[in-house]
Amino acid sequence: MTDVILKVENLVKNFGKFRAVDGISFSVPRGKIVGFLGPNGAGKTTTIHMLLGVTSKTSGSISYFGDNFDTHRETILKRINFASAFNTLQNRITVWENLVVFSLLYEVRNYTKKIEELCNHFEIESLFHKRYNDLSSGQRTRVNLVKSLLNDPELILMDEPTASLDPDITDKTLTLIEKLKKEKNLTLLYTSHNMDEITRICDEVIFLDHGKIVAQDTPLGLTKRVKNAELRLEFDGKEKILKKYLNEKKSVFSFPNPNTVVVKVEEKKIPEIIFGLSQSGVWITDIEVIKPSLEDVFLQIARSKKHDKY
Ligand code: ADP
Ligand code: MG
Repeated sequence: MTDVILKVENLVKNFGKFRAVDGISFSVPRGKIVGFLGPNGAGKTTTIHMLLGVTSKTSGSISYFGDNFDTHRETILKRINFASAFNTLQNRITVWENLVVFSLLYEVRNYTKKIEELCNHFEIESLFHKRYNDLSSGQRTRVNLVKSLLNDPELILMDEPTASLDPDITDKTLTLIEKLKKEKNLTLLYTSHNMDEITRICDEVIFLDHGKIVAQDTPLGLTKRVKNAELRLEFDGKEKILKKYLNEKKSVFSFPNPNTVVVKVEEKKIPEIIFGLSQSGVWITDIEVIKPSLEDVFLQIARSKKHDKY
């Protein structure tokens, strides 16, 4: 039996007459990283806030470790944590004081050592005595990440934790997440707008749009839904023949440079096109296939939703 850490059923949130989250159901198994994606306003943050009990839900149910969140809130909150680029700790006290306060709340043993180790990893030891208010947004995020790891959580809900980080710190964050997943079976619900990050760390992706789940799959499964790849060919002369052939095939193509053509094509048709072009006498000097990425999936869902086609 899979060990389900978080189970959400028919979760709804209304703000007055506006329904921000519209009956979503999903579960997060232990040791998995689940990406939570969607355009701005899709309802991701509202969902995460309900999962933390910061925002009350309108209806539906949330359970962690098999226990109902409504009735076991205190014990559950000790076993999970939260990180975001947006939430703020106490502004008027120092980084160190903030982290000590949270360590005491979480009843962390040996917290001095733990805070030092985590701050060392995120390269913020030099900020211990700075007031939280005086930090840059990237520095704040890093303090938030340290806070989110203090209680050795079994699950962390992360709402765009890397939004304001430099690429090297983002990489360090992802590396630490990968390490914790491997060594401690850490489970994550992870929101980001960076598709490379999602592709790198997520086992599964949930796409939210207008408060509803519109797709749910592995990153690879999702990219396979986008059939069109891009075929980029360098060729010698014979542009006319090339155009004629591609028009006959009803292909969509463009010429970024005089001797380069980019063809949008179903992946499985690529060999046929290359073969057909050389048969017609076009001399191909270089071939590059650009496969669909999660970014393409995101765009496809966001666009087609507007036209109600997806
Ligand atoms: P996301 O995190 O996916 O960008 P949010 O969950 O922040 O989206 O917002 C979802 C929708 O709910 C948006 O249309 C937003 O304007 C609305 N919303 C969020 N919080 C409130 C609130 N407190 N009152 C009214 N509407 C809200
Ligand atoms: Mg948000």
